[in-house]
Amino acid sequence: RQLIAKEKPEALQDRPPVVTILGHVDHGKTTLLDAIRDTNVAGGEAGGITQHIGAYQVEHKNRLITFLDTPGHAAFTAMRSRGAQGADIVVLVVAANDGVMPQTREAIAHARAARVPIIVAMNKIDRPDANPDFTKKQLAEVGLVPDDWDGDTMVVPVSAKLRKGIDDLLEAILLVADTLDIKANPEGRVFGTVIEAKVDRAKGVVATLLVYNGTLETGDIVVAGKAYGRIRAMFDFRGRKLRKAGPSTPVQIMGLNDVPDAGELFLVYENEREARTVVEERLQQQQKRLASAPKI
Ligand code: GDP
Repeated sequence: RQLIAKEKPEALQDRPPVVTILGHVDHGKTTLLDAIRDTNVAGGEAGGITQHIGAYQVEHKNRLITFLDTPGHAAFTAMRSRGAQGADIVVLVVAANDGVMPQTREAIAHARAARVPIIVAMNKIDRPDANPDFTKKQLAEVGLVPDDWDGDTMVVPVSAKLRKGIDDLLEAILLVADTLDIKANPEGRVFGTVIEAKVDRAKGVVATLLVYNGTLETGDIVVAGKAYGRIRAMFDFRGRKLRKAGPSTPVQIMGLNDVPDAGELFLVYENEREARTVVEERLQQQQKRLASAPKI
């Protein structure tokens, strides 16, 4: 955010909103992420093969929305603890047969602390024991007053299982996005966050990056935490090769020398020497901290 603030206001352009899905266990986060991916995957061919790289994009009314597809708080909190906002909008999944539960409250607390607006996906409305009114009452009690009750929280009834209400949810996301300042400079300094990373036997270190600002390109030199390297190849969530990735685009990259942590900020540097210096300094600082830490 501070880095975005350095961009000239006139250079900023709208970028797709980044959405994360939170909610109580078994309320349907994974099913909802699958339903959204299957019904509206960006670039057509619904039901086509998509890779789980930690994020994907869908299209609704010719606009893109980026979803982080690691459900739960871990990824969101990891990003927040490193200063990145993590997401522009939280979709809070609440099962209409179960209502507000402990992890629902936790998710609300996380979103509020990060000042990220919440949209409620009231899930499992297909169930005979679903009780939408009671669920809304519970939501109102925790401060999420539904907009049809004169509040300002959008509560969208969905059935992730039956793929119902998905378009309404996407519509709600775009409506909320329009009230926010979701912008970046595609020509500016290139940075973003690490969504996930691992070592692949064949490909070496593969990392999913979410670009916040600028345009990431093959051949760029990236520093992410204590890892650095030149991007050898870049793929989208469909496994298609990409040369460039603008703001809010998730990409899987190859070429880092080490596995960065999820939530780590990444930056592009002019040359490899500079990148190496940055990383070496970080490693030295870490060793100093370890050396000066009290021995147990
Ligand atoms: P998560 O723990 O929040 O990721 O929840 P899951 O997506 O794994 O769903 C938990 C269970 O609820 C699974 O058995 C799903 O099939 C079921 N489920 C999810 N969405 C719906 C829904 O809309 N209707 C019904 N009836 N069941 C659902």
